[in-house]
Amino acid sequence: MGARKKSAPAKRAAKSGKTATGTKPKAIVAPAAKPRAKAAPRAGKAKGLLPMVAGNWKMNGLLGSAKELKAMGAFKAKARLRCDVLICPPATLIAPLAKPAAAAGIALGGQDCHPEDKGAFTGDISAPMLKDAGATAVILGHSERRTLHGERDELVRAKAEAAYRAGLIAIICVGETQEERKTGWTLDVIERQLKGSLADAATAQNTLIAYEPVWAIGTGLTPTLDDISEVHAAIRKSLVQRFGEAAAAIRILYGGSVKPANAAEILKVPGVDGALVGGASLKASDLNEILNVYRS
Ligand code: PEP
Repeated sequence: MGARKKSAPAKRAAKSGKTATGTKPKAIVAPAAKPRAKAAPRAGKAKGLLPMVAGNWKMNGLLGSAKELKAMGAFKAKARLRCDVLICPPATLIAPLAKPAAAAGIALGGQDCHPEDKGAFTGDISAPMLKDAGATAVILGHSERRTLHGERDELVRAKAEAAYRAGLIAIICVGETQEERKTGWTLDVIERQLKGSLADAATAQNTLIAYEPVWAIGTGLTPTLDDISEVHAAIRKSLVQRFGEAAAAIRILYGGSVKPANAAEILKVPGVDGALVGGASLKASDLNEILNVYRS
C-alpha cells in the first residue's frame, strides 16, 4: 500500500488544470485545479447500522458456486459476525441461490438494473425482476459499467430510482481514475458523481455508497489508509450537506483490491463502514478471512 506522491509534471498539470499529457481530464467540469486543504475532517462510522461486506462476483459463477455461498454462511454463523453480508452473483444465480442464501443469513443482490421496470429492452434486467428472483439490493454505477457501457451519472440516478420503486437497496459506486488522482481532482470527481448519481429519495435504509478508486479495482493496488479516510470523510460531508444529519447513518464501503492480507487495516480506517469485494469474494476461503475482521 504505497503512498502516492504527485510527480513534478502532475503538480504542474494540477495547477494548469491539464493532465500531465497536456489534455484536460474529460470528466472534470471546473477549469483549473483549486487549492485545497489536504486534511479533510475525519468522519465517524455510520451510526445505527451494522457494517456491510458485499461481494461482487461480476461475470463469474455457475450453479456449483452454491457451495461457496454455503461455506460463507457456515462461517458467518460460527463467527457470529457483527456485519451484514451481501453477495451479488450474476443475475442467473439469484433465484437458484435464494434458498441457501436465506438459510445462511446472507442477502443477495444484482450487479445492475435497467431504469425502466419493464419493456422492449433486449438483454436487460429490471429492478422488479431482481427483487422477484430474491435480491434485496443492487450495485449501480460500478466503474466497469461506467467505463465499458458508457454509463453516466444521470443514468445511475435513474437506475437508483428504479431500485427504490422495486424496494431494493442501491449501492452507488463512485471513484476516481488514476489520472484524476494524480492531477489532484479526486474529491471533485467524487463530489460530482455523488451529486449526479444519488437520487433525492436516498436514505440510510435504501442506499449505501461504495468508494471504489477505478485504478484499485482488480489491480492489487490500494490507496493509502489516509487517502481512504480523506475520501470517506468528504463523502460523509457531502451526504450530510445534501440529506441532513440522517445521512450520518448511510454506510460508506471501500472497494478496490480488498484481500485477506489488507482487510483488517482497511476496515478499521475511520469512516469505513465495510467493503465491496470483487475477486476475493469468489472463494469462501478468501471472503471468510475478510469477514473474520467482524467476528464477535
Ligand atoms: C469490484 O469490482 O467492485 C472490486 C472491488 O473488485 P476487486 O476487489 O477485485 O478489486
